[in-house]
Amino acid sequence: MRVAWPPAPGAEAEGMIARAFGTRAADLDVDFAAPLGAAMTALLAACLGDAAGAPVPAAEIARWTVKRRRQGLLAVDVATGGPERTMTARCPHEGCGAVMELGLDLDRFRADWRTEDIAVGVGGDVVRLRPPRPDDLHAWAAARDAAPEALAARLVVGPPPPADWGAAAEAALAEDDGLAGLELDTACPDCGRPVRVPLALESFLMADLARSAAARLDEVHVIAGAYHWPEADILALPAARRRHYLARIAEARA
Ligand SMILES: [Zn+2]
Repeated sequence: MRVAWPPAPGAEAEGMIARAFGTRAADLDVDFAAPLGAAMTALLAACLGDAAGAPVPAAEIARWTVKRRRQGLLAVDVATGGPERTMTARCPHEGCGAVMELGLDLDRFRADWRTEDIAVGVGGDVVRLRPPRPDDLHAWAAARDAAPEALAARLVVGPPPPADWGAAAEAALAEDDGLAGLELDTACPDCGRPVRVPLALESFLMADLARSAAARLDEVHVIAGAYHWPEADILALPAARRRHYLARIAEARA
């Protein structure tokens, strides 16, 4: 399935087009054991195109903003398995600890990624920031305990800011990318108390795609064993035909 993923309604010309992951032999070369950012870049370069469907070089995707890459990953995962997912979480309340399932509609996380300039009002001044990219995340991870000012200083465009602007910068960055520290509010079905579930979308979506890659490899193994077709031919089968052959093989074995 191919999915058009525009940044906003009517902005199709600035959107991305994603195809299902796991339909070409090269897809299965994506190394999900690699660091998350590198695996994401490889996967997006394989499955994502611009609004006209033309491929985007991996080096370019590596320099995309974090929010744009996340949207690309959403598009690929929706193209691969449709928009509906389930996640599990454990109730954190003492004496409960129930495991609950939360339904997710990935289409709800569609967000405009185009803003490249974030204005932060500090007193009478305006500090301009660019949205973070993967290399910023790496630098921040390396400097775990640095003050917010030190972290956001990487993103400043133009004149250096006045003192005490870290909190304002944090708020402006959170507003620019509301999916960065995503938390879902729900209620525990067992004890009824409110529960806030953090959701790291990138990790969640990559785990989902890794599972689908593993399942696809298992299917190739079963079909190749029965029909002796080449791997690439089996991967290129439309899903309905692949299911049909798998059902026939299961019947024959029963
Ligand atoms: Zn509970």
